[in-house]
Amino acid sequence: MRRRLIHWTLLVCSLLSACAKHEFRHHPPNIVLIVIDTLRADHVGAYGYSRTTTPALDRFAAKGVVFSQAITPAPWTAPTLASVMTGEYPSRHGLLATRDTKLTVATIRDDVPMLAERLSALGYRTVAIVNNDWINAVGSFKRGFQTWHKLPATQLADSVNTFVRQEMSVDDPRPLFLWAHYFDVHAPYVGHPKRGKEPPIPDIPEPVPAPQADQPARRVPNPEYIAGLETIGDYLRTYDRGVRSWDRSFGELVEWLTARNAFANTIFIVISDHGDAFAEHGRWSHGFALYQEMLGVVWIMRSPTLRPARIDTPVSLVDVLPTLARVAELDLGDDADGVAVLPSPPSPRVVWSERLIRHDETPREIAARCGEYKVVFSPDGRSRTYDLQVDPLERTPLTDTHDAAACFDAWAQFRQRPLRIASTVTLDAGTREKLHALGY
Ligand SMILES: [Zn+2]
Repeated sequence: MRRRLIHWTLLVCSLLSACAKHEFRHHPPNIVLIVIDTLRADHVGAYGYSRTTTPALDRFAAKGVVFSQAITPAPWTAPTLASVMTGEYPSRHGLLATRDTKLTVATIRDDVPMLAERLSALGYRTVAIVNNDWINAVGSFKRGFQTWHKLPATQLADSVNTFVRQEMSVDDPRPLFLWAHYFDVHAPYVGHPKRGKEPPIPDIPEPVPAPQADQPARRVPNPEYIAGLETIGDYLRTYDRGVRSWDRSFGELVEWLTARNAFANTIFIVISDHGDAFAEHGRWSHGFALYQEMLGVVWIMRSPTLRPARIDTPVSLVDVLPTLARVAELDLGDDADGVAVLPSPPSPRVVWSERLIRHDETPREIAARCGEYKVVFSPDGRSRTYDLQVDPLERTPLTDTHDAAACFDAWAQFRQRPLRIASTVTLDAGTREKLHALGY
């Protein structure tokens, strides 16, 4: 039987030995969660992209732990971030809802505790800076946050960073948990008039390394956003400029943090919530399927107790909360779907992504990732199996699925889990209008 294991380049004992000083036992660390909305992992230098989109993030990553195969549990913002904040898959925290009606969205189940609630109970000062209208619309996300800065989606990284600097400069003896959400990379992309005046962005001269780049762009959602761009490559270049624009601001923030010696007592978690599709499988945007262009996300962690490392085994964003608990030496509960993937990586396991077709009891689409294999189970009972090492663009499903048996075996159990949908909230007209303006 053919057998290829994902390489683990991590030196297993190194991270643990670095934790031996137990710096955090008596002085809980500050925790900063940075979310870059819609950032595809494969458009980041630290994740192998050939264009120079993220020099500042790459330098940051070189001093941290990079999860090169991080997978989001859902292909759009709200369920993913609910998973980050609870450690649960969407079918368990309840926020799986689709956007079909544009009228309602599910909340997070009341009986599932949120990260900010847990940290607040441990004595943390909790602050969120959020410019995503979906997150601002779902009240559950505010649970546990003592301060919630609601920004419009047009306020990009420089504005968010102003709040970050302000909050990190507050003279307060309590440790800080800060969530900063960045919307720069999300459509309608940097350069659109609604985004305001952007400073010049350095040119990125290399050709877009996407096989479909020369194809004409058709069926683009909200084409008025970026009128005049004709090929898929044009749109990808515009996307990349947005990434570079965010990175410039991020670099300035890192300089400020370094000058304040903030890295000495702070755990930084940098993630993206999902990717974005550019007609790799015929459609644009995200949320509509479980392909890698939407599921492949960034996850980088830095802590004074962690040595730089790269972990190439698949992990999920449901693992963020348990991993943070382990690194920060905090009791954040131990009953979540996710597992701590530091200081030691977990045994190979199946990692899941879920997408609800409609917001009711309709069966959901589920993707299972086991090593280099991925199986997407459709609600109609069919499945598609890919070998991502051979076919990373998911062009040709395998006919012989024997080597992906671990995915199928695990799915037989996972599919039995009850779908625990939460109640819904009705979006007001103003929120619907804002979301429509963003292409929803
Ligand atoms: Zn998002």
